[in-house]
Formats: sequence, structure tokens, C-alpha cells
Amino acid sequence: MIRLSGIRKTYGKVTALDGLELDVREGEFFCLLGPSGAGKTTTLKTIAGLEIPDAGTVELDGEDMRGVEPYDRGVAMCFESYALYPHKSAYDNLASPLRSPRHRLPADRARERIGEVAELLGISALLDRPVGRLSNGQRQRVALGRVLVRPARAFLLDEPLSHLDAKLRQQMRAELKAIGAVRRTTTLYVTHDSVEALALGDRIGVIRDGRIVQTGTREEIWYRPHDTEVARAFGRPRINLLPGAIAPDGSFRSADGKVELPMRADAAPGTEVLVGVRPRDIELNGRGHELTGTVYVTEVLGRSVEVTVRLGEQHVSLVAPRGGATGLRPDDPVRLSVRPENLLLFEADRPERPGRRIDHD
Ligand code: ADP
Ligand code: MG
Repeated sequence: MIRLSGIRKTYGKVTALDGLELDVREGEFFCLLGPSGAGKTTTLKTIAGLEIPDAGTVELDGEDMRGVEPYDRGVAMCFESYALYPHKSAYDNLASPLRSPRHRLPADRARERIGEVAELLGISALLDRPVGRLSNGQRQRVALGRVLVRPARAFLLDEPLSHLDAKLRQQMRAELKAIGAVRRTTTLYVTHDSVEALALGDRIGVIRDGRIVQTGTREEIWYRPHDTEVARAFGRPRINLLPGAIAPDGSFRSADGKVELPMRADAAPGTEVLVGVRPRDIELNGRGHELTGTVYVTEVLGRSVEVTVRLGEQHVSLVAPRGGATGLRPDDPVRLSVRPENLLLFEADRPERPGRRIDHD
């Protein structure tokens, strides 16, 4: 279990962590998702004891880590910039953590463990090669392996798949969680890739400007995003956000007056809002609220088609099965439908912060 409370960390004038709160449960695979510069690496270093926070506490298994040296914290961290021994073989790089006094294993047990991890990371055939002669992607897997071979109270993984090509990344993503050691060990996994977070995280924490904006299961983050920025971070094509305001009866009316959606918003009439609906939640000729528009452009995405539709002065995009959208041409009239349960409502974005989600019936 990892618990961070009120963590502040500054570098000169830069505030890297600004009152960060984080709870990772025992045995959980937790993904920390955020853009570059959000404070992800600093969070991991703070847990590992490589950075000392200006304020706040780090607890591991309920024990306050103040004054505890990195080596004694029992966490294994994989850095984005991996530190490997370039002249040693991949095998020796994997074996070296198991030679430390703390984690020493009998040679046959060590070989077994290294074999298992190497197999799962797809580097068994590379074990004899010097690390300096491996590709970036291969080196990254060795670095990850070095972390996973030794028993730890928690694994801290900093964008461990970022140097792999898309295909390998997808494959490794599937395998990573299956590695026995990972299944059994609390894992905090850092990424800026929302697809990766959705695929891997038992829970996801969204970090922005050194603070956790939202923590939840993938369903919670997807269906109840805290604000427009979280909603925009998940799903491609991106969520549609239509500007408008709350009418006197609580329904939504778009800014150009062309779109009305019956709902009862938990906001005062006149409140400026954004209605959010994901492209895959808009159907052509389906059931639900109806909207009419004209085709702007279509784009084939394999088995589905992304259709951009002009609704008044706005564009919305939807993803339809290819069958349902064949033959659509620019300027064709189309009828769209959205189920009420798939509508999200947000305050309008402001310069100082993204619009927060508003409840509605
Ligand atoms: P992330 O891993 O999410 O990209 P980091 O934790 O590396 O973000 O950095 C958070 C912020 O702190 C950034 O603005 C970064 O420039 C700054 N920062 C991180 N480490 C240092 C450092 N050693 N010295 C100065 N600034 C730093
Ligand atoms: Mg980083």
C-alpha cells in the first residue's frame, strides 16, 4: 500500500508537486496518467526516496518513510531513462539485482526467475548480448525486467513501454499484467498514454500540474469524468463538446440555438455549459434524442467510419459501422441520435480551469 498525503515538491520556482494526494491499494495495478511535466516522475521518485518532499508524508504499508533511505524502502523503480550496465550481457543486467545482499537468491532460483521474466518480455534470445548492442526497445525491456526479477513491496514503473513501437507496445501491455510478480505486487505505473491507462489500470489517477484531478476505475473516469480535460484525455476520436446554455426548464440549448436536448441540469438557468457526447455514442438513425444535420466529411477507419456532421454552426463527429455509413456524401442530410444516458454536461471552460462536470437527469 502506498499513501501520499499533501506532498509538495518545488525545484527553485517550479512547483512539481502541489499538495498531491494518492492512495494505491495493496496488490493493485494503479496507472498514473498525465501529460509531460505534470509531476509523474517526481511522484515516483518521492515514493522511492530519491527526492525528499518539501511537505507531506509518504507511507508504505502504513509506515512513515520520513528518514528511510531509498534502499530500505523495498520498492523497485524502473526509470524512463534506464540505467543499465552497457558492457554486461542482458542476463547479467537482470541478475545483478539478485546478487545484492538483500535479494540474493540461489543461482538456480535466480536463473528460473530471470528465465520467466525474460520469456514474458520477449528477450530470452537476447540474454547473452551486451546491452550496449541492443535497440532502444530491447534495452527498455531489459530495464523493465531488472525491476521485475526481484521481489519488492511495490513496483514503480515510469513509462516503461514508451520506447517500443506501437505493435510491440500493445503486445507487452497485454503480457505485463500477466507476469506473476506483477500480479502479486502493488504496482504504480506511470504513462501519458490514455489507451495504456485504460488497458492496464485497475484504477487510474489523472495528474495535472502536480495534483491528482481524479481517481477512479476506468468506468468512473470514462462515464463520470471530473472535467472537460479528463473527458478530452480519453477516447479517440475525441469527445464532442457543444457550447450552449441551460434553458429556464433545465434543458440544454446550443449557443447557435440549433440544438436542444431535453434534460434537467443541476445548474441555474443561463449557466454557460458544454454538452459532451462521445463519437461512438452517436448513432445514425438510432433511438434517443434526435438531431438533424448534414454530412461535412467522412473518413474510413478500418471497419468503421468517422462521420463529421454539421449541426448548426457546430461540427460533431461520430463513429459508425461501415455498413451504416456507406454512401454518405458531403451535404447529405443525416439524422443522429444520442441516448440520454450518454450525455455529459460540463460548466463552460474558463481560462483558469477546465469546466467541471455537472450532474443532470
Ligand atoms: P512528468 O514526469 O509528469 O513529465 P516531472 O515530475 O518530471 O513530470 O516534472 C514535473 C515538473 O518539475 C516539470 O515542470 C519539470 O520541469 C520540473 N522538474 C522535475 N525535475 C526537476 C529538476 N531536477 N530540476 C528542476 N525542475 C525539475
Ligand atoms: Mg516523467
